[in-house]
Amino acid sequence: MLLELENVTLQYGRIQALHGISLTVDEGEIVALIGANGAGKSTTMRAISGLRPVASGSIRFNGEDITRLRADLRVVRGVCQAPEGRGIFPGMTVLENLDMGAYTRKDRNGIAADLERVLTLFPRLKERAKQLGGTLSGGEQQMLAIGRALMSRPKLLLLDEPSMGLAPMLIQKIFEIITEINQQGTTILLVEQNAQQALSRAHRGYVLETGNIVRSGTGAELLHDPAVKEAYLGVA
Ligand code: ATP
Repeated sequence: MLLELENVTLQYGRIQALHGISLTVDEGEIVALIGANGAGKSTTMRAISGLRPVASGSIRFNGEDITRLRADLRVVRGVCQAPEGRGIFPGMTVLENLDMGAYTRKDRNGIAADLERVLTLFPRLKERAKQLGGTLSGGEQQMLAIGRALMSRPKLLLLDEPSMGLAPMLIQKIFEIITEINQQGTTILLVEQNAQQALSRAHRGYVLETGNIVRSGTGAELLHDPAVKEAYLGVA
């Protein structure tokens, strides 16, 4: 197992957002986390990336207990989160933003190769390489956030709502790119409102409800699960 959460609980002050969740992500997988607004999807991502401390339970990554490890050190270990929404540096160019993603690395050749790979995955970013991040459209900024995360060459890429706010055509495109990134060897944990797309792309998925995992299975199993269909896919 690349990632293993066991009975993780997390609190925001007196509000308990995660009630003891357990999940695994195996190397090479795309795993989708779906659920309604406020179910705890983003909170689960924050627990994994170390942006919020967990109250109890454990998180193991690549054979190591990272439950209490600092967020920046998790990045060095290979856990990288592309933030929900923007989260790019608006005053820096596209290229500078991408460079920032590689700040923990020293292998110049590897960095150059990954930059080429990111610009090939996102031709739009290549066209706008010298433009300031803040002048990009919402969809382009989303791509830049994902591209920047890839520049750290993560073992595990955490994507929080990558399709949020995108036009339908771009949504399709972003999911194609997610599949491609995975096929190139990156394991992905994906949080999505767009359950249909996420589950059809994912090897496995988990359903979160008010801080609990209530269902899990292969992407196909969940897509055909009547309860999932009714609650998350808009079909009765
Ligand atoms: P969304 O898609 O709306 O982001 P989500 O499934 O990602 O939903 P979370 O953002 O993880 O849900 O929120 C889980 C619970 O924790 C919710 O009840 C939310 O109100 C609460 N919560 C989230 N962030 C904070 C915070 N910074 N302070 C207090 N409560 C929070």
